[in-house]
Amino acid sequence: MNFHVLTLFPEMIESGMYTSITGRAIQAGILSVEAVNIRDYAYNRHQKVDDYTYGGGAGMLMQAEPVYLAYESVVEKIGHRPRVVYLTPQGQVFRQEMAREMAKEEDIVFLCGHYEGIDERVLEEIVTDYVSIGDYVLTGGELPAMVMMDSISRMVPGVLSNQESAQTESFSENLLEYPQYSRPEVWHGRRVPEVLMSGHHANIEAWRREQSILRTAVRRPELLKKANLTNKEWNMVRQWKKKWKEESDASDKGEKDENS
Ligand code: SAM
Repeated sequence: MNFHVLTLFPEMIESGMYTSITGRAIQAGILSVEAVNIRDYAYNRHQKVDDYTYGGGAGMLMQAEPVYLAYESVVEKIGHRPRVVYLTPQGQVFRQEMAREMAKEEDIVFLCGHYEGIDERVLEEIVTDYVSIGDYVLTGGELPAMVMMDSISRMVPGVLSNQESAQTESFSENLLEYPQYSRPEVWHGRRVPEVLMSGHHANIEAWRREQSILRTAVRRPELLKKANLTNKEWNMVRQWKKKWKEESDASDKGEKDENS
């Protein structure tokens, strides 16, 4: 898997990606990350790549030509027109399914904006995917590109030493992962759940599944609709919801009584 990042700050990408798990995968030749400095493609002496926006308004805009030339340098190098992701708060919100799907590509270009963004015309010409990492605005596309590359990398075979951990973790079946514990057995008076100490594999699996469903129902209930639950598990969820509603009604009533 080859990532090509068009950026004004290549050092951010290099320091972020050349460490830890992704750094190890780069060393092993499973991943490659190339940061292409858009400034190298500026067509003026001062290597200026931004200018005022037509029509007025605050802030500067990255110009089309240096971005286009930086992109063309990648096309020339790899010999085909790859998928180009423009990181933008105006894009589709990045999700695990997208990471899984993008991990199948051989090359992906990430285009990082800065200032007010990038001249629309070059976006129309080269971008295939507009992706946001969430509903907030950052100063540049480098952190979002790193978020995406990190997450996509984990789906590439050989990047994680234990592939299983990418299969059972949060979002893999629209469920959040179950709680996990390590040594010591008791910490601050909190004991590791008994079942995990039992060595009974089937009971441990059943406990983990139930905890995953419970955690999702509490923290991200909207995900449950897409999870593949059995009828028995749906009944269990309905029972929990009923109980939570009764508890909440009782607490509301208690507050009302106190205030009257
Ligand atoms: N004026 C732009 C707008 O309102 O949509 C925001 C520009 S932002 C200050 C500068 C750059 O940061 C963007 O071009 C984009 O590359 C990146 N960026 C900011 N927030 C982002 C987000 N939530 N997801 C992905 N990229 C983001």
